Amino acid sequence: MRFFYGLFFAAIVFSGSAPALAKGVTESELREHIAVLASDEYEGRKPGTEGEAKTVKYIAEQWAKAGLKPAATDGSWFDPVPLMQRGRGNATFVFNAKGRKLRIVSDEIVLIGKNAEYIKNDLPVVFAGIGVTSNGSVEADVKGKLALVLFEADTAPEKFKSPRARREALIAAGAEAVLFIGDSQGNWPTLRRQLLSRPISLESREKRATLEGAISSEFAVALVTAAGLDWDKLRAHAKDADYAGEPLGVDADFAVSTDIYRFNSSNVIGKISGRKKGSGALLFMGHWDHLGICAPEDAPDRICNGAVDNASGIAVLTEVAQRLSKNRHDRDIYFLATTAEESGLLGAYAFADKPVIPLEQIVISLNIDMIAVAGRGAKVAIIGRGTTPLDPLVEGIAKKAGRVIETSTDANDFIQRQDGWALAQKGVPALMVGGAFADLDLMQKFLGSDYHGPGDELTDKTDLGGAAEDADLHIALGRYFADARKYKSAKAGE
Ligand SMILES: [Zn+2]
Repeated sequence: MRFFYGLFFAAIVFSGSAPALAKGVTESELREHIAVLASDEYEGRKPGTEGEAKTVKYIAEQWAKAGLKPAATDGSWFDPVPLMQRGRGNATFVFNAKGRKLRIVSDEIVLIGKNAEYIKNDLPVVFAGIGVTSNGSVEADVKGKLALVLFEADTAPEKFKSPRARREALIAAGAEAVLFIGDSQGNWPTLRRQLLSRPISLESREKRATLEGAISSEFAVALVTAAGLDWDKLRAHAKDADYAGEPLGVDADFAVSTDIYRFNSSNVIGKISGRKKGSGALLFMGHWDHLGICAPEDAPDRICNGAVDNASGIAVLTEVAQRLSKNRHDRDIYFLATTAEESGLLGAYAFADKPVIPLEQIVISLNIDMIAVAGRGAKVAIIGRGTTPLDPLVEGIAKKAGRVIETSTDANDFIQRQDGWALAQKGVPALMVGGAFADLDLMQKFLGSDYHGPGDELTDKTDLGGAAEDADLHIALGRYFADARKYKSAKAGE
């Protein structure tokens, strides 16, 4: 099929008349990169591992080959991103309820300190319901206290459905400690596993209570009962729209040690220098990291290889860089491969806090993530649609490339789940453009199956057609937005 197409191409369609047509990005070019990045040798590309070392080395080598120049702060390819992990250490604790001392077996509680040592006596304990009222405010008096919070929060307002948002609201209200109550049938095992998984964080951006963690509902019931209160009544009250919490008449003594591990990960940064100084810059970005060894020891396959998420994006970035570096452009074009996206867009936040160029100079940033889901012919969706004045320009270029536009804003559901969000919050026009998030049924199918599991691997069946087509679209977008005559940006002071 391809062979015939090639003959037809050369002999009839473009003979003589057409300008030398740049070769489009092919599936096999993308496949080559993904095969390396998503191989078991790269161990799932978790920040701080041997897999990271191999990954960032590969990206720098490929970007050099593609014609980029290193553009990190110190002139190398790598901007250090200081990350940390906390693990559970030793803890002793006692809850004092009406003269009774309650101790629990360690399986029923997980305590993680902000600092290596936390010692505190007589910390008052408040039951804070789901943490916030129906208007999102914290009415419980948690200042300088330990807040016990129900993990389950069906009645929470949309913005506070996530435990993270409620935890941060309680911290803002002055809570010294926040412990979630896990439901033993449902979320307790998951909650416990999450807390013990040594999650990666970016210290400079952390909002953390001095002590955090979770207890099982069994223990919460014992605690409340010992305090002379009725658990079922408390739980029922917690659903009230304006619930203001209840002091339990219990206090706690803690001596908690926490394992703290600090390490530097890397954002990889390269650039194509523009010829028109002061005309602004473009930023192409995508995350290189994934989840590493993610399955339990007895699993047949333990590595989350992240072929789609996001070896595919790095492959596309690399091929886009290779095509764009063949010509001079007015504006600088930066390429950024971020770390620790999977831990909460941490590399992107680190870049946003210490960018290699002033953020005001970025006329557009295009993030590329999970690009290999749809096949060729998919519509083009814009994550970030309606948030910048760029939609009609992006659409015009997509149409010129023969693409059909998905005009709904459905893809915006993903806006906070991708690296561009870290820049958008600082006013950078940040979009994600392509087919993968146009067919949301297909995307949901992926999210409900191989996504974030050992099944996200490169196989013969992986369809890279859509990614190749989107790569061509990004090249066209790059050429357009890097041209200071075609795209005059107010941002670039023109
Ligand atoms: Zn992911």
